[in-house]
Amino acid sequence: MIELSVMSLDYTAILNQKINALKHQGNYRYFLPLSKTAASQPVFKRYTEGGGEQAVVNWTSNDYMGMSADTDVIQALVETAQTDGVGSGGTRNISGTTARHILLEKTVAELHNKEAAHIFNSAYLANSAAISILGRAFPDTIIFSDAENHASMIEGIKLSRCEKKVFKHNDLDHLESLLVQQDIDRPKIIAFESVYSMSGTIAPIQSIAKLAKKYNALTYLDEVHAVGMYGKYGEGIAGQMGCSQYIDIIIVTFAKAYGCVCGYITASATLCDYIRSFGEGFIFTTSLPPAICSAATASIVKIKNTPELRVQFHKNVKILRGVFKENDIPFEDNPSHITRIILGDAKRSKVVADTLLNQYGIYLQPINYPTVPRGQEGLRIVVTARHTVAQIEYLALALKEVLSSGS
Ligand code: PLP
Repeated sequence: MIELSVMSLDYTAILNQKINALKHQGNYRYFLPLSKTAASQPVFKRYTEGGGEQAVVNWTSNDYMGMSADTDVIQALVETAQTDGVGSGGTRNISGTTARHILLEKTVAELHNKEAAHIFNSAYLANSAAISILGRAFPDTIIFSDAENHASMIEGIKLSRCEKKVFKHNDLDHLESLLVQQDIDRPKIIAFESVYSMSGTIAPIQSIAKLAKKYNALTYLDEVHAVGMYGKYGEGIAGQMGCSQYIDIIIVTFAKAYGCVCGYITASATLCDYIRSFGEGFIFTTSLPPAICSAATASIVKIKNTPELRVQFHKNVKILRGVFKENDIPFEDNPSHITRIILGDAKRSKVVADTLLNQYGIYLQPINYPTVPRGQEGLRIVVTARHTVAQIEYLALALKEVLSSGS
């Protein structure tokens, strides 16, 4: 029998203390148990504490175009699962590279007009693997990272063990002042996003690419919140601005506007081959189920060939902001589709979100630190292509009542 020392360390107590501190600050993440039906999106059912059910309109989903419920995408998933089976059964290196994986990679490389692409099991993984591998590829690399970059890019930079300089969000002067201090021949990577997921700001991609050229840096762009919605074929903001060719590595997800799951990088054949060859997050994990690859391919093709979907989506963003303005809802204006209301306090954000959910059947998840800096806590509102004008008007009415009630 193992004897425990009287003074033994209480691991559980330490963990509970930290969890309780999170709850006390209002930053604890509560998950909402729910059930979705493709046909009724964006309405879902949630299970209430008393054991009942409530119909709720979802205003948080990144399934921007409603493609997770698209019949062609569902059909592609089901048909491939029936013919190919479910799991791929191996890493890409060991029987996990099927014709479905190859077709998906070819489809995305063509979408961005790049030589090659590689899919990862998520965009989080793509960012952490690709940045860390690239950072270590060259001697003494320095990485310049926008202050609002996503956690997955920050993790990639940490794993690269490179020197990092954070430049003020979208601030070209600050970026240049940091670049100019470095030797022109020192390897450099500028890592940034096109549409920032929380503030909804859009990067000056062309100007950053120009700076990169001037100071001999590689450009690494996350287009996770842009593909599917921007560009003539849904290829994202770099494509829309006509400057994809100046971006060395674009990273994207299929989990948001494409309504599926998994991420990819697209770049030159050499860059992709290097990341594929040295990226542990790519090599040592089972490849995606072929059915997911088929669904993602179907989604890209559908969005590419159906511009009306993008038109409907942006029309809804415009309607929502117009209705918010009419109702004096204090949202932050920005050039993208992400609408944010800053409440400046985690506890208040939770009270507002709980009231909207319980009294109005409206689901808005409070956004807290560390997803946003302290003081910028609030609500992130996403209108999708499937929301109706009546749902938008009801949301505005509910927000107006709840925000003016002192909540
Ligand atoms: N990059 C950004 C900017 C994101 O917002 C997210 C997810 O929210 C990711 C990467 C990770 O995407 P995925 O859900 O495919 O892991």
